[in-house]
Parts: sequence; C-alpha cells; structure tokens
Amino acid sequence: MSQLEERTLTCAACTAPFVAQVATSLNAVRSPAAREAALAGRLHHVDCPHCRAPHRVETTFGYMDVERGHWLAVFPPEELPYWGAREAVSHDSFWQVSDRAPMLWNFRATEMTLRCVFGLADLREKLLIWDSGLDDAIVEAWKLELEATEPALATDVLRFAGREGDEIIFAVGQDGHAVAAPWGRYTILRAQRGPLRARHPALFKGPFVDRRRLRA
Ligand SMILES: [Zn+2]
Repeated sequence: MSQLEERTLTCAACTAPFVAQVATSLNAVRSPAAREAALAGRLHHVDCPHCRAPHRVETTFGYMDVERGHWLAVFPPEELPYWGAREAVSHDSFWQVSDRAPMLWNFRATEMTLRCVFGLADLREKLLIWDSGLDDAIVEAWKLELEATEPALATDVLRFAGREGDEIIFAVGQDGHAVAAPWGRYTILRAQRGPLRARHPALFKGPFVDRRRLRA
C-alpha cells in the first residue's frame, strides 16, 4: 500500500500557504499511476491553488515495485553530500522491512534491485534506464567515459533520457539539453562488465549506483 501525508508549503510565487499530498511510501504495483507520474516527471509536482505556480516537492520516501524487482530509497537532492550515511539507511531499512515480511517476500527480497537516489529527477532516470532494459551501473561507467572525453559533459547533471534508434540520449546540465551517444558503445561496455567492475568496484557496490560517489 502507498502511504501519503499532507505537507503545508509556502508558495514561492504568491507566498500563500497551501497543503500538498506527498508519499512517504509508494507501491508501484498498487499505484501504477504513481509510476507513470514518476516516469513523466510529474510525481510530487503540485500547482499552488491560489496562483497556479508549479512546485516540485522533494522529500524522503520509499519506492517499491515488486513486479519489476525495484526498491528505491529517495532522498532530497540537497542530501547528496551525505550519500554514505543515506546509503547505509537505505540498506538497513530495506532489510528491516524484509525481515518483518512473510517468507515469500523474503525469498523475493534477495532478487530485488536496491537503490538509493537523490531527487525525483534521479528516480525518473533509474526507472527510464530499467524500462529501456539497461544496466544502470554500466550507464554510470559510460558517463565516466563521456566526462573524460567530452569536457562539456563533465557536469553533475548528466542523465539518461531515453533510446532513439541507434542512439542513447542524455540530458545535460540544468537546462537539460540533449546529447546523443551511440548505442553501440553501450553494448561494448555491457560486454565488458567484469573488467569495468574490477576498475570501478565502488560503482557496482550499491545501493548508491552513481558516478558521483567516486568524487568523494
Ligand atoms: Zn501561489
């Protein structure tokens, strides 16, 4: 079951207070609309009821999709510097939930992909990567390569945005402009998963599967 709570916000445009509903826990199987909203970049986006100004509510919540085998702990983007501690919390809370659950779930728990992300845009990116049938650790290793070869891509904001034919589209920078990279490069990197893992072991340890962890 998804769990929601009411949050009183202050509109950044008209300064009036308003109440928004946000999730503390989302179950994508029981709330497919929430998954669609996350993929469309609409999750936790609310308009001020007074002046219609759009707001995005960044908050801490759990995202679970047992059918697809995904369990993500979502934290606000400003908590990124504490990824080490948040990653530990994600890991512990996942196993606490699993330990309280019936045997069947315990069985499934070992097959779940556990991730920790910072912000709704990063949650969306993981869902898009998996929907395209890609391996997120390989995508992160690919970003390291792109950053090293294209200085313009050496930014904290470099996100997978989709596949178009023989190209993978990345959204770059705060404005999210699109940059295409050849799909063939992904398949080569995917075939080299073993050596890549040996080269960047931290990238494959999880739950924070993100190249930015290598910058600490
Ligand atoms: Zn307003």
